[in-house]
Amino acid sequence: ALEIGHDLGAALMTVRALESERALVRELKRLEDYRSQLIATLSHELRTPLAVILGNLELLGELDLDDGAARHHRAMSRGAGRMNKVVDDLLLLAQVGDPRHPLVRIPVDLGRTAADVLGLIGSTAEAKGVRIRRQGGEAVPAALVVDGDPVELDRMLSNLVSNAVKYTPAGGVVTIDLQRDGEAVVVRVVDDGLGISEEDQAGLFRAFFRTTNPAALREQGTGLGLAIVATVVERHAGTVRVTSTLGSGTTFTVRLPAAGAPGLPETR
Ligand code: ADP
Repeated sequence: ALEIGHDLGAALMTVRALESERALVRELKRLEDYRSQLIATLSHELRTPLAVILGNLELLGELDLDDGAARHHRAMSRGAGRMNKVVDDLLLLAQVGDPRHPLVRIPVDLGRTAADVLGLIGSTAEAKGVRIRRQGGEAVPAALVVDGDPVELDRMLSNLVSNAVKYTPAGGVVTIDLQRDGEAVVVRVVDDGLGISEEDQAGLFRAFFRTTNPAALREQGTGLGLAIVATVVERHAGTVRVTSTLGSGTTFTVRLPAAGAPGLPETR
């Protein structure tokens, strides 16, 4: 009887522990929902007045301003432009982080996506004196096609490439390498820039994370770019990892299931 009593007591404790664990999970989920709702609402509400500010700044810029006014105008335009980028990133992060937001699934050729991204970032890189090289993907047509959302995948790749350019000093090289590896498409973005310390690598994909490296902090940023990368990759049933050495460069490797390969969850 003693033994049975002991077993019952242990079982009861397990049930209680399970119940409080479930309550904790429910509470965490509620907080997470609240957080993404708050971000979505705030960024949405900010977007309209910001569009008014940007539009009027543009009109002001067409007027014949004296030197003093032109200086103020430039400062305001820079500030408003930066705010616009933060609001845009926040909205996208809220959207891709919301499990109710459906994932678009159409065939996307990552070779094309890379060409589009390079077309946009190429001139910034050139102005800075950073060379961009493109590797792989020539062999088999359709080898680099994945099923997914073209807008999200474009943003994922452009965040990685623009970071590589941003955190690589003049004279550096950024390589974008696209390969088919069995059932996966592998995208590598390699730079020989500032690199990331091991300590910083641990927090890299968290929203609002910025490095502790003073050289990197001189660049403007929101700390949202890599959080968007991680969420987009996860939504596409892929993985992203980073290898980096402080002072000598960084490689981000993204693996996504190739079109038709198993692994991508059914459309929600
Ligand atoms: P942001 O660039 O807007 O600060 P991200 O989320 O894109 O935000 O990146 C987070 C941090 O990771 C950056 O502040 C930077 O310190 C570091 N980082 C990202 N990519 C690189 C890279 N290619 N080389 C060095 N540091 C990087």
